[in-house]
Amino acid sequence: MLKMFPRTHITIAASVSVLVTAAVLMSPSSRVEANRVTYALDLEEGSLVKAGFVSSGITPQAPGSLKEIIKPETTSTQTGPSSTPATTLAMADAATQALPATDAATGVLAAGQAPTPVQPPQLQWQTFDIRSGDTLSSLFGKAGFDDGLMLSVIHGEGEAGKLQRLYAGETIRFATDEAGELTAVELQRDRLESLRISRTDDSFGGETVVREPDARPVFASGVIEGSLYVAAREAGLSDRVAMEMAGIFGWNIDFVYDVRKGDRFEVVYEELYLDGEKFGTGEILSARFLNRGEEVIALRYTDSNGDTDYYSPNGSSMRKAFLRTPINARVSSSFNLQRRHPVLDVVRPHEGTDYAAPPGTPIKAAGDGRVIFAGWKGGYGRTVILQHGENITTLYAHMSRLGRGIRNGSRVKQGDTIGHLGSSGMVTGPHLHYEFRVNGSPRNSRTVKLPDAKPVPKAELARFQRFAKQELAKFELFRGDDHQQLALASDE
Ligand SMILES: [Zn+2]
Repeated sequence: MLKMFPRTHITIAASVSVLVTAAVLMSPSSRVEANRVTYALDLEEGSLVKAGFVSSGITPQAPGSLKEIIKPETTSTQTGPSSTPATTLAMADAATQALPATDAATGVLAAGQAPTPVQPPQLQWQTFDIRSGDTLSSLFGKAGFDDGLMLSVIHGEGEAGKLQRLYAGETIRFATDEAGELTAVELQRDRLESLRISRTDDSFGGETVVREPDARPVFASGVIEGSLYVAAREAGLSDRVAMEMAGIFGWNIDFVYDVRKGDRFEVVYEELYLDGEKFGTGEILSARFLNRGEEVIALRYTDSNGDTDYYSPNGSSMRKAFLRTPINARVSSSFNLQRRHPVLDVVRPHEGTDYAAPPGTPIKAAGDGRVIFAGWKGGYGRTVILQHGENITTLYAHMSRLGRGIRNGSRVKQGDTIGHLGSSGMVTGPHLHYEFRVNGSPRNSRTVKLPDAKPVPKAELARFQRFAKQELAKFELFRGDDHQQLALASDE
């Protein structure tokens, strides 16, 4: 089974995700076409097994090549006559069925909780949900044990002492043997983590057990009729996955201005399972967006240093060296070099873009750079100018205050807060005036072609290319299979 539980951290700027999310949420919507297939991918065998819902009456076939156990269901999410019927594929997955039933014999744990180690049947378990106000002492008391025993447990070996850190919402269990002696204490912190303490010869010993969920790749696709958000929902994507997808593509696609009816997305992401039960989603592994006929593909790649990011199949970063928008706000006045003054009727160019937001809203550095101006600048009011590389500067005006540590000569990273929105200088209301200049000439920050962030290092381009080829082939496999499903569904 594919194991890809996240270990690394993604450098996609959170700010962009938030911005895009807001945009996606605000977009109007109507009909979508969507479908979603759950797969278990066996990399060793190179086979693809549909998983998800076990359909009754269909026996899973032996593992091997692509399995075709199909039970398409037309869902009720379709509202448009032109929509292709969405298919929720009911599949039997041999792997799912092979998973051990969780404590079915004892009935102690609900499915999905940590499996109890095989216990002698004479053990008695008492379980308590921890509520605010509970103390370890009161919980021991409820279970019939005194503070003396509690102290010997928390003074036990290993991590036993961590039993003192209790939080509401956790669950604690006590096991006693037939003589009524405490033999084990288990603190279940969440679905994945528990502290297990058991009696040793003369004391107690504890260890933290962290379970790794089983990550299964899932393919979903949708056609946008209104907003990406609605299409993603119809495709069965959680809001989190939809936001992450928007964040990955947010550098290339403006989800408010660029997305058109008929745009299509395909995404392979992880669904996380414990004991065969789904409990969440993991990372997006690859995604494809067809925007006005143009294809954008993002592949999640971890380089040999262990750094993970999204890249296009040619190895260039999905991210840009600059944020398209340095603040989470709406545009209140566009870049316009021909702007005529409404009263004087003379050309008074607007060499930047204005964003309106509540005073104090953080303003982010659009890219890595160096502060070349930080202070008061005439009508601009409180202003920061950043130098990026040789020939690009960005300017941020009308701030209420500068960001912490922002002064002439300081270095900033993309996304750092360099100041806060205000109404300093010559303004009629609070806003950010943002300029993007190339060799001193003003450019429209919303349309200027932005340089890419760092590509895959040259030294491992060959490694990446092998990976990309594999991932794209997987994509084709999913998609080809998807089409087959649709064809079969329409035959019925
Ligand atoms: Zn302005």
